[in-house]
Amino acid sequence: MKIFKFGGASVSSVERILNLGHIMKHWDNEKIVVIVSAMGKTTNALEKVVDAFTANKQEEAIQLFNQIKQQHLSTAKYVLVTHYLACEKQLKDFFTEVEWLLYDTPVREYDYYYDQIVCAGELFSTSIISAFLNEIGIQNKWIDVRDIIRTNDDFRNAEIDWNFTKQNVDKIVTPYFNNYKIVLTQGFIGATDENESTTLGREGSDYTAAVFANLLDAESVTIWKDVVSVMNADPKQFAKAIPIAELNYKETLEMAYYGAQVIHPKTIKPLQNKSIPLIVKCFIDPTLPGTEIHNKTLKKLPPIIVLKENQVLLKVTTKDFSFVGDHEVRRLYELFEGLHLKPNLTQIGAISFICVLDFWPEKIEKLALKASEFLNVELTKELSLLTIRHYTKEIFEELTSEKTILIRQQTMDTIQVLLK
Ligand code: ASP
Ligand code: MG
Repeated sequence: MKIFKFGGASVSSVERILNLGHIMKHWDNEKIVVIVSAMGKTTNALEKVVDAFTANKQEEAIQLFNQIKQQHLSTAKYVLVTHYLACEKQLKDFFTEVEWLLYDTPVREYDYYYDQIVCAGELFSTSIISAFLNEIGIQNKWIDVRDIIRTNDDFRNAEIDWNFTKQNVDKIVTPYFNNYKIVLTQGFIGATDENESTTLGREGSDYTAAVFANLLDAESVTIWKDVVSVMNADPKQFAKAIPIAELNYKETLEMAYYGAQVIHPKTIKPLQNKSIPLIVKCFIDPTLPGTEIHNKTLKKLPPIIVLKENQVLLKVTTKDFSFVGDHEVRRLYELFEGLHLKPNLTQIGAISFICVLDFWPEKIEKLALKASEFLNVELTKELSLLTIRHYTKEIFEELTSEKTILIRQQTMDTIQVLLK
């Protein structure tokens, strides 16, 4: 059994949905669980609906939601003929599920409504994709993943109840493979024991694919993306970026830690535990080899470059120039946590503590204000943080030659510099 995951970009237009059909035809002899995200930017659009609804702007929420409905109905019309009516009925049931809520007054917390509304994106997209595959002769069983993935009620960042979910997979998903080659379902979402919808964190569909792979002991997970493969740098930032054919779980986690947007970091563990390879493939040209991520040790990796722009340097010193101690650092970390900020680099000196953060204007302002109650605070903006794993002297010099280095941190295999 294989797991395929199609992200939002791979189903963002009629053309791309047709392309997905070509890909699936190519694999028509395999048993596959297909996980699909919301189409294109639907999740962002649904977030706007939530914002309006929870701000008591009901009319605006309904109007924004109507646009999303129309987009999906018109996509369905383009790709479906004989299966249109059945799909329209399914979509309308899901529309009602959301509208039923939008016509009410918000009484619960934001995160709860977020999950009840945002989860619709995946339900809409999979309804259309499933009908489309049936239409082109690829029989498949659509399932509501909320009947399978059981989570706690930590809305927007729900945690999976693995035991219960495993039972559901065995009881519900596995038997479908007696009659179907393809089971198609949603990424990113789940449900609590009270049937409230939950989400697993933005970009969480990769994680869903890994959960299914783990529970079904799949032979591999393929993530279909709009890139040729995982690259050693972002090609938009570095023209000389090259594809990486092979990676291992550890290196992938390291890359994610330093800010490379490769794969949702939660995805790795469930695969690593069962040594299930993860393949990143290009849905635009499936003949390209892509990248295989596995458990084996790798001898030689190219330099891997991660450049984070729009960084801010926060430098604090004690008001009386005594040493910066655990107490101050702890209080700072409490501030970070309260504001959901995560330092990208830190350095403790005798009388100063330095850290580099993503520049979120409001959050940084609040942080500086609060920190200045007990420390002297200095901010430097518009910096970039360059990380090179497996660096060589040559590549380091090439990438930093015309820049001013403000901070430098180095281990055997990783070098980080803050640049101006
Ligand atoms: N649709 C969700 C998001 O945009 C989940 C995903 O794409 O993985 O975050
Ligand atoms: Mg996505």
